[in-house]
Amino acid sequence: MPEGPEIRIAADRVAEVLVGHAVEVEFPGFPKLRRHRKRLSGAVVTAIDTRGKAMLTRFDCGLTLYSHNQLYGRWYVRPRGTRPQTGRSLRVALHTEAHSALLYSASDVAVLDADGLETHPFLARVGPDILDRALTWRDLARRLDEPAFRGRALGALYLDQGFLAGIGNYLRSEILHFAGLRPEVRPRELAVRERNRLARETLAISRRSYETRGLTNPPARVRKLKAAGARRGAYRFAVFGRAGQPCHACETAIERLTIGSRRLYLCPSCQS
Ligand SMILES: [Zn+2]
Repeated sequence: MPEGPEIRIAADRVAEVLVGHAVEVEFPGFPKLRRHRKRLSGAVVTAIDTRGKAMLTRFDCGLTLYSHNQLYGRWYVRPRGTRPQTGRSLRVALHTEAHSALLYSASDVAVLDADGLETHPFLARVGPDILDRALTWRDLARRLDEPAFRGRALGALYLDQGFLAGIGNYLRSEILHFAGLRPEVRPRELAVRERNRLARETLAISRRSYETRGLTNPPARVRKLKAAGARRGAYRFAVFGRAGQPCHACETAIERLTIGSRRLYLCPSCQS
């Protein structure tokens, strides 16, 4: 199940071949969207943005292609004229002279103008994206203190895409661990210093996972664990998926809980 960093990495691959180029657009899976083809064809892609699991392909004609991958959607980038070997069905194709960006299996796709972006049901309720470069830890500290969020347990809040887009199950466990907090804690119970630390770790861990293709442990710890012969599964995360194994920081056994019907991992000593 991809989380924000994995979605952003997929978006980067698409952006690399499309941004700055005029495209031809096809919607083999969505007959109703064909009416937009004329206006989109020849339009230049200006940016690929993400909001959690949604991708926004922006065109210089003012339209935006919204696609939400849900569970099965997948983007492929190929030299133009070639197709990936897959049993999936092609839903959207964007072609430049040299490349094709191909979206398979997604069922939630729309073409939106400025009004449509404001009123789209998913975009209207989703929070800021954790990988948005404009988002600062101070913005996040303020958001944690808002009436809608400050009274909610962190374990539930950190899976709510209305709070922040892009955090999924592994990031929830890892962020709370590095912030030294248990999932039952509510933002209103935190001292300013603790809330600021949580805000900083939320951004730092999410960005680290994006930049390292999925590692949340700090680079120095990863190097040490690798040097000791650990495989990726053993050095990737601090707590997630490590029930019963020693905490990398204090050697206490990691515990597994179920919160919000999803598994959550923590160190009972570092997080207390
Ligand atoms: Zn520990």
